[in-house]
Amino acid sequence: MEIHKIETGFLAENCWLLVNARNEAVIIDPGDNAAAILETLSTAKLQLILLTHSHSDHRGALAELVAKTGAPVALHFSEAAIVEQGAANPPDFGERFEKVPVARKLRGGEILDFGEERIEVIATPGHTAGSVCFLVNSELFSGDMLFRENVGRTDLPGGNEDELNESLAKLLKLKPETRIHPGHDADWTIGEARKFFV
Ligand SMILES: [Zn+2]
Ligand SMILES: [Zn+2]
Repeated sequence: MEIHKIETGFLAENCWLLVNARNEAVIIDPGDNAAAILETLSTAKLQLILLTHSHSDHRGALAELVAKTGAPVALHFSEAAIVEQGAANPPDFGERFEKVPVARKLRGGEILDFGEERIEVIATPGHTAGSVCFLVNSELFSGDMLFRENVGRTDLPGGNEDELNESLAKLLKLKPETRIHPGHDADWTIGEARKFFV
């Protein structure tokens, strides 16, 4: 599986584009700059757009990508209405968005088919109530839950520090070689995170 990172928007959000051996693609968190994402997608067939959560900096290019590719969108059920209503989240984080239908409402624990690959959905509330991470083999896409030497803020609506600490403990049980691809900043590993947080 190929992993491409496209840094987007004024908050330098990391959009992740995965391409499997069948030249099928999944996009995680299309923050902005649909043109750059589509250029990276190239000839790969887009199967699914995943959101780790509904914050505006993670879905600025969502409506344009859906309009141009027809790909279905999936995120946690508790934040689906925000995307379907085209709301900015948090409300003072930017302008309103176009309404985008959500094809699949996640709860955590699902395994999503992606060719020979499997995408495991892990519920990790704390940064927002509906935050999830996606695990593909030893690659973890952690959104704003877990960054290099940092965790997501919990002071925005839906944030909860106790829940975030529980989610962090859950993630730290993954294999140490698991590579963390966060929603902002650089990659690191679960092994490094264990040493840092414990
Ligand atoms: Zn966020
Ligand atoms: Zn973010």
